[in-house]
This record gives sequence, structure tokens and C-alpha cells, in this order.
Amino acid sequence: MIPVSEARAHLLSLVERLETEDVPLAEASGRVLAHDVQARRDQPPFSASAMDGYAVNAAEVELHAMFKVIGEAAAGHGFEGKIGAGQAVRIFTGAPVPEGASFVVIQEDVTRSGDLITITDEPGANTNIRPRGGDFQDGQIIGAPKLLAPADVALLAAMNIATVPVTRRPEVALISTGDELVMPGGTPGPDQIIASNTFGLKAMLEDLGARARILPIARDTESSLRTAFELAEGADLIVTIGGASVGDHDLVGKVAADLGMERSFYKVAMRPGKPLMAGRLNGAAMAGLPGNPVSAMVCGHIFLAPMIRALLGLAAEDQHPRTAILTESLAANGPREHYMRALAEAGSIKAFANQDSSLLTVLSSANALLIRPPNDPAREAGEEVQYIPI
Ligand code: AMP
Ligand code: MG
Repeated sequence: MIPVSEARAHLLSLVERLETEDVPLAEASGRVLAHDVQARRDQPPFSASAMDGYAVNAAEVELHAMFKVIGEAAAGHGFEGKIGAGQAVRIFTGAPVPEGASFVVIQEDVTRSGDLITITDEPGANTNIRPRGGDFQDGQIIGAPKLLAPADVALLAAMNIATVPVTRRPEVALISTGDELVMPGGTPGPDQIIASNTFGLKAMLEDLGARARILPIARDTESSLRTAFELAEGADLIVTIGGASVGDHDLVGKVAADLGMERSFYKVAMRPGKPLMAGRLNGAAMAGLPGNPVSAMVCGHIFLAPMIRALLGLAAEDQHPRTAILTESLAANGPREHYMRALAEAGSIKAFANQDSSLLTVLSSANALLIRPPNDPAREAGEEVQYIPI
């Protein structure tokens, strides 16, 4: 058995950043920017009014001052002329500030009569003008790698970047193994259950930016497993679920080895998730996860998520553990690192009483994995522990 950190390092050594592809801006959200991009213009491209009001010379602004309105500047339609002494231009938000103007008196501070305005309320110190390039300047960089959020897409759009270089989405093939499994929506026989792991993992990996294919369930025969591996052709990462331990029907290791997998490790000192297998198979990374639903999902969080991030060119480690105060005591931990399903709330954390690795209801109620290092002694309520949010 190897420690979790070593297993994760092995898994990360099986993957590297994928190629770059260009996508239309409208499809860039959730993708990872693959190289730096530069603004193609200043924003705003001119000094712009931040308010509806009157553009005047700042030196002339004082209570009771009067101005003659000589024209109008609206968004998309600037005023062509120049403002002279005692003159004002009616202006609207987003319009270019005319030459000679350096202050926008908001319309609420002005009384208008025909062509004449009088400042009838204290106009304050704010010029209500957004300077040219005040948001960003031509050539300004958005640095890669960066997971693009909706706000980033808006910024790219404003920078006039219509096509965005992003890392290709990792392709993951998910293979459930077991004679007892039936797809959701199917009709299970009396000895059968519904395959859940592939669906949970697909959701998790696609949230991270991968594209996951659920392959037909492999039966517990060598030929069925071989067929499943053939169908996984073309994936960057092949994930098998179940059949990885030492039972008579656990054939994943044997079949993968027959197909040429170079195994990098087999067992990890971890709860849940001891029988974890990894290696390289025909150019793809391969991870063999345990079948118990919670084990598979926890291994997804701890091992597959960093692999997907690495394939996308992001730093593999984004799961910096957080700390919280125990509200209930915990028994001493055994020799394996334990990821306990837990509820974290407002700085406190509590592990669920039943940590059986088959209980999806418990996992679904949890929002944290409380980390117990190997041989961690018993812990009392009030002690600080580490966890990762899930
Ligand atoms: P195995 O590792 O194949 O011995 O499976 C361990 C346990 O996980 C058994 O109870 C299996 O029925 C269950 N199991 C395996 N694969 C899945 C799956 N895809 N979905 C739900 N349960 C599974
Ligand atoms: Mg099985």
C-alpha cells in the first residue's frame, strides 16, 4: 500500500496538458484559457459620461452658475463641436464627453428653462466622467491558464476577442463492471442493483470541464471487459469501476495487464478506496476505482479531479484543506488516511455516524470530507480538524 499523496503523484505523472483549440466566445464559459490574450482596444475608448446630465467645464462649476445648452451627446452619437465658456452640452450615460468639457453635472442638480440651465443643487466633487482606458487598456493581458467564468467571458467580449484559445476538453471513458449491474431505467433481476457510480462520476468530471462517456456495463468476464476497453479507444483517461479487488470475479487488473497496461500502483492506504489501480494503457491514462459507490466518488474527488485539472493545464492542487472545529468526538483512526463524510457549517464540522462506503444517502447529505491522517489519535469536540468541501 502506498500513501494517498504518492498515489496522487503517480496519477498526475500519467497525464499532461492537452492541446489548444479555438472556440467562439459564446462557447468559452467553463473552458480553460490556454494562453494569454490581449485587449484589442481601450475601454472606454473615449472619456465617457457616467450619468445623464450636462457636460461643462469643471472650472465653471459652482452653485447658481448658468450655462447655455448648445447641443446633445448620446451613447453612440457624440457632440461634434467644442464647449466654450458658459456653454453646456446635454449628455447621456455612455456618451463621449465633448471637447472642452471636464465635468458632468447630473440632471437632478440642474433646473432647465429653454436653452438655459442653472445649477440649483450642490454638484459635489465627482466629475461623473469615466476616463478613457479606465477599465482596461489596449494590450492589457488576461493571463493563462484561467478557468473562464461568465464575468471573464464578458471581459473578453469587451476586449473584442471573438475567438478564444482554450485547452481541449479531456475525454473520459467510464466503465462499470459487474454482473449485478443494470443501467438506471432498466429492469433489475432479483439479484441486481442499479449502476450509479458512472453517473455520479460523469456529473463530477463534466463539472470540472471534461467530457465523459458512459460505456456499456462490462460483465464479469474477460471478453466483456476486453470489449469495454476496446470501446474506450480514443479517451485521454479510462476509468473502470469495480472488479479491482481480489475476489474471484475481479478481473480488471488481469484484463488490463493482458492488453498491455503498465501498472504504476495497485493499493492505496486510504479509506474508502483501498483497491485503486492506475497505469498507462495504449497511450491513455487508466484508473481502476473500487466499486462501492462512496469509494468511487471519493476517489473521484481525491484522484480524478486533480487529473482532469492537470489535463486542462490548471494547477492540479486546488483542494487546499480547510480547518473547522469538531462538534463531536472521533475515535482513533487506523493506518489508512480516512476521508470521512461530514457536514461542515460556519466553522464547525461533524462526521456522520455511519461511514459505510456503500451509503449514497450519507454521501448525498455530506458537504465535506473530513481528513483523518493515518493513525490519527482520538479527537475531542472542540479540536481543530481538516476537511475538503465537496
Ligand atoms: P467490486 O469492487 O466489483 O467488488 O464492487 C464492490 C461493490 O460495489 C459491490 O457491492 C458492487 O455491487 C458495487 N458496485 C460496483 N460497481 C458499481 C456501480 N457502477 N454502481 C453501483 N454499485 C457498484
Ligand atoms: Mg464487481
